[in-house]
Amino acid sequence: MSWSAFTISHEHKGKRVFYNPTHPRGRHESNVMHEISHILCNHAPSKFVTFENCDFSLRTCDPEQEEEADWFSGCLKLPRESLIWAVRQKMENEEIASHFVTSLEMVKFRRNVTGVDRQIQQGRKRWQK
Ligand SMILES: [Zn+2]
Repeated sequence: MSWSAFTISHEHKGKRVFYNPTHPRGRHESNVMHEISHILCNHAPSKFVTFENCDFSLRTCDPEQEEEADWFSGCLKLPRESLIWAVRQKMENEEIASHFVTSLEMVKFRRNVTGVDRQIQQGRKRWQK
């Protein structure tokens, strides 16, 4: 069975995030960011999964919260300002992925949704006028 990460909620000890260390580092960092996003967004679990003879529970969230956590975890993993810095350093996508220990797909996704390339290009055009 392959699992990525999960959060355990304990009444007295708070929340603990666990990740699968067998995944590549960039992936498990993204998985942890996803779990942290749920916590920071105060997502109310749609369902608690409890186990017999255990004093902790796992939580699941509804699809909308999962989407929000996916989005926010990308912001945490590769913040816009970091991306702007990297692009201004003229780093290629592979270098950015390596520097920020993330996937090439995440770099491409964040460059696209943040509009940093367009922002920098417009800044250069204004500077050249
Ligand atoms: Zn989730």
